[in-house]
Amino acid sequence: MDAKELKKWEAELNICIRCAYCFEGCPVYKELGWESDGARGKIVLSYGLFSGELESSEYIADKIFECTYCRDCVERCSANVSVPDILTAARTDLVNDGYKNEAHLELLDKIKDTGNIFGKELKSPVRNGEVPVLLGCRLLERTEDTKRYLEILEKLGIKPKVVDETCCGMPFGVLGYKDDLATHKEEFRRRFPYKKFICMCTTCVFFIRKNYPDLEAIYVIEEVVKRLPEVEHKKLGTKVTYHDPCNVARGMDMVDEPRSILKEIGVELVELPTSGKQAECCGGGGGLLVTNNPLAEKLAEKRVNQALEIGVDTLVTLCPTCEFNIGNVASKNSGKLKVKNLLDLVWESLK
Ligand code: SF4
Ligand code: SF4
Repeated sequence: MDAKELKKWEAELNICIRCAYCFEGCPVYKELGWESDGARGKIVLSYGLFSGELESSEYIADKIFECTYCRDCVERCSANVSVPDILTAARTDLVNDGYKNEAHLELLDKIKDTGNIFGKELKSPVRNGEVPVLLGCRLLERTEDTKRYLEILEKLGIKPKVVDETCCGMPFGVLGYKDDLATHKEEFRRRFPYKKFICMCTTCVFFIRKNYPDLEAIYVIEEVVKRLPEVEHKKLGTKVTYHDPCNVARGMDMVDEPRSILKEIGVELVELPTSGKQAECCGGGGGLLVTNNPLAEKLAEKRVNQALEIGVDTLVTLCPTCEFNIGNVASKNSGKLKVKNLLDLVWESLK
């Protein structure tokens, strides 16, 4: 196999000292339990592909793609190895070597055909304000929620400008389709031609900051933290738990911001057994929802059970993908846990 992309990570592949600190919090390793399920095993497999000591195979591809990109290993790694970046390189080399996963191709075709991950025509709630706002596929699909989230911005003194946007391209990137990502990025820039904007979706904002270095994506939460104390709002007096999305807590270092919003709107927070930078992943990232949906759901089930065990009936989070995965499992489970976006509570408070 021509490991063209992995070769760019030769130095990183060599700095893994095989210490296994990355095992402790890896959700996939904790669920499946084999060496090849944790970051160290995946780095060894990637090294084998890079050096030519391993031939690519379905087994290796399954292991490389069974990662949620939760970054728990990055947080714990004693040698600062960028595991998700190395796995993206490995995924790209595998795809270029002919690896095909029907579920991946189906998802990417949907984006190519319709500009969103749902493969259907979604109408942007166009607004002609002053500040460009990117919604992202998941919020674009949740029309009623999105209208309320845009109202939040208006109440905070921001006039949103919403256009007929397209997917940020994240699925092409994480699933190893580098050339398709390059093509899609041009389309994204054509449909959303702004340098500085507010981004409503956690996944999009994290992906854009990493993959479009010339763009300035402000996460909606940064605006809420800054502006909410200045605007009239009420205290809700409810009790919830908060699930830290990986991209928010570990990816963008935002642990205090959501908690300060909950405090500001008078919501009591009961922490989950793991929270902040140690929070367990919901299982919805890194393409796992399409690569291995039962595994993604098992990881979400852990979060649902943890929330019920600490005695709350509402879990709030920020990432629409966490919300989808945990919410879906919660409703299939006992239906006792409600899953909401933190923005839903902000809207309640501003009503
Ligand atoms: S990113 Fe998360 S799921 Fe992937 S290897 Fe690291 S800890 Fe495990
Ligand atoms: S924690 Fe880092 S250095 Fe240690 S085995 Fe895992 S990836 Fe390698």
